[in-house]
Amino acid sequence: MIRDHFRVLRVDLSTGRGQVEEIEGRNTYAGGSGLAALLFDRMGFSDRRWDDPEQPLIFAIGPLTGYFPLMSKVVCAFKSPYHDQYAESHGGGRSALSMRFADLDALVITGKAKRPSCLVVGSRTLEVKDVHYLWGKSVQRTGQMLRRMAGGSGHRSILRIGPAGENRSAMACINVDTYRHFGRLGGGAVMGAKNLKAIVIIGDESFKLPDGKEYAPLFEKIYGQLTETTMMDKYHNLGTPINVAVLNKIQAMPCRNLQRTSDEAISGITGETFADRTLLRNTACAGCPVGCIHLGFVREKFGEPNQYLYRQVTYDHEPIFAMGSMLSVLDAFQVLTLLEVAEKAGLDVMSAGVALAWATEAFEKGLLSEKETLVPLKFGDAKAYAQAVKHLGTGANDFYRLLGQGTLKAAEQYGGMDFACVLGQEMGGYATGEVFFVSQALGLRHSHLDAGGYSYDQKQKGKDVAQAVEFLVQDEKARVFLTSMVSCLFAREVYKEAVLADCLNAVGYPNLAENLDSVARRIQTIRWQIRIKTGFDPGSVKIPQRFKQVVTWKGPVDGNYLESLQETYAQKIREIAKREESSSARSR
Ligand code: SF4
Repeated sequence: MIRDHFRVLRVDLSTGRGQVEEIEGRNTYAGGSGLAALLFDRMGFSDRRWDDPEQPLIFAIGPLTGYFPLMSKVVCAFKSPYHDQYAESHGGGRSALSMRFADLDALVITGKAKRPSCLVVGSRTLEVKDVHYLWGKSVQRTGQMLRRMAGGSGHRSILRIGPAGENRSAMACINVDTYRHFGRLGGGAVMGAKNLKAIVIIGDESFKLPDGKEYAPLFEKIYGQLTETTMMDKYHNLGTPINVAVLNKIQAMPCRNLQRTSDEAISGITGETFADRTLLRNTACAGCPVGCIHLGFVREKFGEPNQYLYRQVTYDHEPIFAMGSMLSVLDAFQVLTLLEVAEKAGLDVMSAGVALAWATEAFEKGLLSEKETLVPLKFGDAKAYAQAVKHLGTGANDFYRLLGQGTLKAAEQYGGMDFACVLGQEMGGYATGEVFFVSQALGLRHSHLDAGGYSYDQKQKGKDVAQAVEFLVQDEKARVFLTSMVSCLFAREVYKEAVLADCLNAVGYPNLAENLDSVARRIQTIRWQIRIKTGFDPGSVKIPQRFKQVVTWKGPVDGNYLESLQETYAQKIREIAKREESSSARSR
């Protein structure tokens, strides 16, 4: 339903009660990233710890959710256990459409439940169920039991955590409908701190499609571009793992804790190998005709000879990098086994893999011993890593509990800061050079998707600092508008500014369509303002020495260029946060 305000359900877990609020700001903050920031600005506490029960856990969708394909994400915002500052994480699955069908633009959860609980919300439903019997259960087992409990499927989405979230690991993710995640910066721990094992969103309403004559042909045109042109082939065919061989070839694939940027045995874990040997099927987020989610299999022998149990495990470029090349585990089935262990624990596989790569090098250098790691860590030893991932998920001892708070925290105590592959959080799977390293280290989400630094490194020659920083700022602004629409960023070549304006007009938001640039700028500003207000100092970010020793196809990383980029981008971020954007929506 088209409205000028946001329809926000606020739930207080301490009382089990909630209410729907109408919040102004559709034409100024749009939705998704913008709406999440607006809500945190109103309801969050910058001066209280991330696990203060009153801190909000926010889920927000956008104005085009349900109307156009690949508007399939939900933006989750919270104060992060990783750095105790404002954070955003994005997830898909069925969550966005379920919220649309539940007639909610956002869900805001505060308070702490008295017992381990599952929150069930719908357009006419709000229930906080006691699920103490699920506490301690793996993500998979929890999913099986909740599906039985919740019944139905269709427009129903299940968000859940595993032991890592219950243990408040800063690497705990929120699993969405089994194959997608709010992966990064510890959203799972925020649920754990609230005694919230799961959220079930029931999309039990319907909504009308726009009447105007523009909508149907526009939908058809976009759908055609997504399905009948080659634009999205990469994502459907081999999927993002196609990058593994490409990056390895140009010496830009982080390998063996970034001691190398290519590995001659990489063929064991390329996208081609995963597709040839392990792929069972593709699946998709709700409302997406592309289907980039690739499901491989692991099998376990049981009972009689030749009897196997098969389980499906999702894979992508980033998980393959983290549990594969970074650990020198170069067999596709072994990588899938590690991914499955991390999935069960509810760990962000990227952070877990990169943290264990650091721990392995620290073990080799004698900074750690088996007293800490409990198993001898060795690059390539998948069996030992399977144990270590479990230990990390359960927080088996002081060392694993500390490592679960972030690699740098462990390195501060045990040494090895120089080779901690941390760019704000554990790095993404690109060793393309200076612009990417700075982009992730300073980016608001510390994500490889904050801006296209990895692509800039590959396309641009020369070392013009001002030009590179301007690219990061403008690209971030464009992406922030897309994530405020909650578009899957894989569709960014389709959803260019003019197309987004057409979509907003067709659905009934002419004001947003007309002011796209100023709205994007305002959202970019408020996000940085909140991040800085919650403690971020862009000037104090450290990029560990290991990144300055990287050699790519362009030669060794240029430390001076990297430092100039870092300084200039930090200054730019401060300037953005000081901008005064006119908006009445923020004043309460
Ligand atoms: S392209 Fe992939 S991640 Fe994006 S919406 Fe489709 S299935 Fe989900």
